[in-house]
Amino acid sequence: MDYPTLLRHLEGNLRLLDARGTKYIGLESLVGEDLAELKEGLKRLVPKATKKTEAPQEQGSSLPRQKPAQMIRRFLDDQKSSQPFQKKISKPGAFAEKTKPVEMPLNQVPNQAELIPTEKEPEAVSAVEAGSLEELRELYKDCMRCPLGSGRNKLVFGHGISQTPLMFIGEGPGADEDAQGEPFVGRAGKLLTKMIHSIGIDREDVYITNVVKCRPPGNRNPEPVEVASCMRILENQLKLVSPKLIVTLGNVPTRALLPDIQGITKVRGKPVQYKQWTMLPTFHPSYLLRNRTAMPLAWKDFRMIASMAFENAE
Ligand code: URA
Repeated sequence: MDYPTLLRHLEGNLRLLDARGTKYIGLESLVGEDLAELKEGLKRLVPKATKKTEAPQEQGSSLPRQKPAQMIRRFLDDQKSSQPFQKKISKPGAFAEKTKPVEMPLNQVPNQAELIPTEKEPEAVSAVEAGSLEELRELYKDCMRCPLGSGRNKLVFGHGISQTPLMFIGEGPGADEDAQGEPFVGRAGKLLTKMIHSIGIDREDVYITNVVKCRPPGNRNPEPVEVASCMRILENQLKLVSPKLIVTLGNVPTRALLPDIQGITKVRGKPVQYKQWTMLPTFHPSYLLRNRTAMPLAWKDFRMIASMAFENAE
């Protein structure tokens, strides 16, 4: 992982820890051992960050935890704000006054040790081909690397913000997506958007893309050659967004990243490691539209998603 990406991860983690009043940062709560080195450097770079964690607190009590939606909003607001680690607490105790103690319903998140081991060793991260998602989109806008290129109406690159800890990956565009150039806008997309909302997050606050960026004819599954030629774009998107959590929707994206993994009904709801990223496979919304009985399992997975993406594993 390159240093800017590491710094972004570290910054995100620090913001969340700070929002929860955490005074101690253990390495196990961070994204990788490389961050140990950065901690020292970061202290020197942003000395205020260490002071910030000394937010006033009532004696004998710890700061109340925030609801996922509050944490997410704060995290995303902070990401959009100008200064990293800018102190937002205007007066002593202001933060504590604003928040109410809440029971966290999303407390069954496995820690790193419970991730399913995979055969694949994390590969070294190669240089990204573009400095931003916009540049990357521009690079591939006329892509004809596979036969799907000639049949597309619009290339469906991805939607959302790059500074997000949560990225959804679907299979490939359908007719609606091909017409509009945006992923998950059809029937399945509406369900996905609803499910994202149900955990207190806006569709605009995550990043959504597909394994293949052009519509496979008749909505068939993409062929291996099509997946292979589009993987380059997806890998670049992953490096640029570098989310804390990747959610793969169904077998196609799950196996595009981890080819040897079992079928979705076996692996859904179980975090796995893909390179340096934590990935959570879950059902594809189209499958859920056809199999309503799978809905409770999908809701269960979605309840894990917010806490995995926006909180540190404990
Ligand atoms: N199904 C997908 O996998 N992706 C979309 O964008 C739409 C439907």
